[in-house]
Amino acid sequence: MKIVMLGAPGAGKGTQAKMLADRYGIPHISTGDIFRYNIKNGTALGMEAKTYMDQGKLVPDELTVRILLDRVAKEDCRDGYVLDGFPRTIPQAEVLAGELDKISDRIDFAVNVDVPDENIVRRMGGRRACLSCGATYHVEYAKPAADGICDRCGGELVLRDDDRPETVKSRLAVYHEQTQPLIDYYEKAGVLRTVDGTQDIQVVFDDIVRILEG
Ligand code: ADP
Ligand code: AMP
Repeated sequence: MKIVMLGAPGAGKGTQAKMLADRYGIPHISTGDIFRYNIKNGTALGMEAKTYMDQGKLVPDELTVRILLDRVAKEDCRDGYVLDGFPRTIPQAEVLAGELDKISDRIDFAVNVDVPDENIVRRMGGRRACLSCGATYHVEYAKPAADGICDRCGGELVLRDDDRPETVKSRLAVYHEQTQPLIDYYEKAGVLRTVDGTQDIQVVFDDIVRILEG
């Protein structure tokens, strides 16, 4: 099963994508996590991506698409994957569809996690991320067992640089301008499904599973 997660930054795409990946035994692929991993390790790719990410802008399509296509070509993606944060522009979606078309394949579902902008700022301000393993928490809604420490790997939890309120505003503007048109794009392709992302994490998950298995 090949799934694309759509939604504003902070809508809960990553949270749900990880749960779906566990349930279906397929990889969770987050282009944001790949960039952050590269930044942490000081690679040239990381340095380039950081200049865009810190301003709340998108990393250029050419670079992002190359990273994503390399990742989905790996053996563990043969039976499917959950894409989180990709595609974020129509050209990215078109390249992905073109690559899948070459092997007579396509995206099965684009799950739109719908959360209004008012809720997003609170979500992002409270998000804490583990830069070692990519796990995500929230100071109010999804607390780790011990403050500031990742349950999964013991790593340190931090407020992402791009989750500061000033950057969140630009990221939301970029979302509405460049990413939201994908909702129409996948609707036209007949694979769009929308869930109410303001509900509890488990309720959102149950809704998505019902859609995928319905
Ligand atoms: P995205 O991947 O879409 O940017 P995340 O999955 O990282 O979003 O979620 C953003 C923040 O909101 C995180 O701190 C996460 O723990 C929290 N969160 C995710 N889903 C919910 C939900 N349904 N209700 C409340 N908080 C949530
Ligand atoms: P995320 O972890 O998905 O919230 O992504 C964090 C940041 O990484 C975004 O604000 C962008 O700067 C960059 N990024 C992640 N995925 C993409 C993408 N598909 N296209 C362009 N930039 C991306």
